[in-house]
Amino acid sequence: MQSQAMFFKARVGDKLADRVLQENLGKAKSKFVDARRRAVAEYEEDDGADFEALREAGKAIRNRALANLDVWLETFEAKATARGAQVMYARDGEEICRLVTDIARRHGATKVVKSKSMLSEEAGLNQALAAAGIQPVETDLGEYILQINDNEPPSHIIAPAFHKSKEEVAALFERTHHTARKTDIQDMTREARETLRGHFLSAEVGMSGGNFLIAETGSVGLVTNEGNGRMVTTMPKVHVVVTGIEKVIPTLEDFSTLMRLLPRSATGQHISNYVSVLTGVKREDELDGPEHLYFILVDNGRAGLVGTEFQEMLRCIRCGACMNHCPVYQTVGGHAYGWVYPGPMGSVLTPLYTGIANALDLPHAATLCNQCGVVCPVKIPLPDLLRSLREKQVDLALRPWGERLALRVWGRMAARPRWYALAVKFGIKYLKWLADGSDRIQVLGMAQEWTRGRDFPAPEGRSFRDLYAERQRGRA
Ligand code: SF4
Repeated sequence: MQSQAMFFKARVGDKLADRVLQENLGKAKSKFVDARRRAVAEYEEDDGADFEALREAGKAIRNRALANLDVWLETFEAKATARGAQVMYARDGEEICRLVTDIARRHGATKVVKSKSMLSEEAGLNQALAAAGIQPVETDLGEYILQINDNEPPSHIIAPAFHKSKEEVAALFERTHHTARKTDIQDMTREARETLRGHFLSAEVGMSGGNFLIAETGSVGLVTNEGNGRMVTTMPKVHVVVTGIEKVIPTLEDFSTLMRLLPRSATGQHISNYVSVLTGVKREDELDGPEHLYFILVDNGRAGLVGTEFQEMLRCIRCGACMNHCPVYQTVGGHAYGWVYPGPMGSVLTPLYTGIANALDLPHAATLCNQCGVVCPVKIPLPDLLRSLREKQVDLALRPWGERLALRVWGRMAARPRWYALAVKFGIKYLKWLADGSDRIQVLGMAQEWTRGRDFPAPEGRSFRDLYAERQRGRA
């Protein structure tokens, strides 16, 4: 997928002005937030367990895997190969497309049914398959809706059509399926299921992502809420798993711990509707499963983060909790971010995967309120990583010179308390002069961006320093 992250500001303007989108986002805003809150409370009340301890355990599992990533990948490869699978590695999106297309051609496939895979979005796989004369069919309901809507990109990592209303989907189905318009969600779902069933039966290749790769058994752990994941991975003769190298975890026990965290953090469920652990090709005494199983393990920028200050980001288990709780995401939706991953995790991943200079606004698309850091099931310090990316932009001279100069001056002042106190005094006077007796400033002289869409509050009285000094004197 071609990144549009450089146009974040312009896209935000469009999204804020889009009335239908704003209405849809408003309706969906608290859905996952409330569900997660309930699920965590129930975990602690009913099970008498400590969710914070579970988050610590999740973090430790992911850290253990990342500390010896090469070793776990080798273990995974050996175990998966012993069960008849073929393990391949892809450096980037181009290689993913080439490998999947080659596999499809080798098996004479003209159609590939897919369950949700963010890596296939990174690679633009659907476009590559179509160009090779192979029909890709998305079978996750949200992804299917977007595919028939002229290949619209997803706006959320677990609910791709999060931004669409029921009425929009009803109109889309009527137009695409040439059926009478349905208004009931169950009827619409049945209609999609009937359409997709034919594809499941006729596709030669099934392609899925992978939530986790389990090293000790060479298995892939898949978590879905629709039955499509199981159809894709068991009905066609060929199953191709495309997932990132960072998804490997050591043991099945680790998988079970992470499965207590993932659904609760993502959708507020105690457990997802379908949890599959798929190991190897179909054996002679087994009734279903693929005759050929391929794993394509993808780097696409991941290996470069190992050993850096951004390694913590590789712990991500793609639950979406950070975006669900982000006030910026809740207001602008996922498309504004311009690439595969939206919200706080996207604001860190997009610059790291596509180049810091190609996503300059994203690390600034956050209030640093730390809601994302508080809910992340594997304790990724997202605000710290966003701040590090901002620092990198300054170090690489990617910010405007005026901003860099202001930061340098502020840095010098902040390190000298007397100068700082003097600057605060002058600053207050200047702001009061700008306010001209009002409690609001409409145009902030040297930082007009701040007041382009809102007023700036005028200083109300004495500074914190003055009040603190007075309190200390009172105590003495
Ligand atoms: S960064 Fe954390 S909260 Fe966000 S998707 Fe990844 S695991 Fe979930």
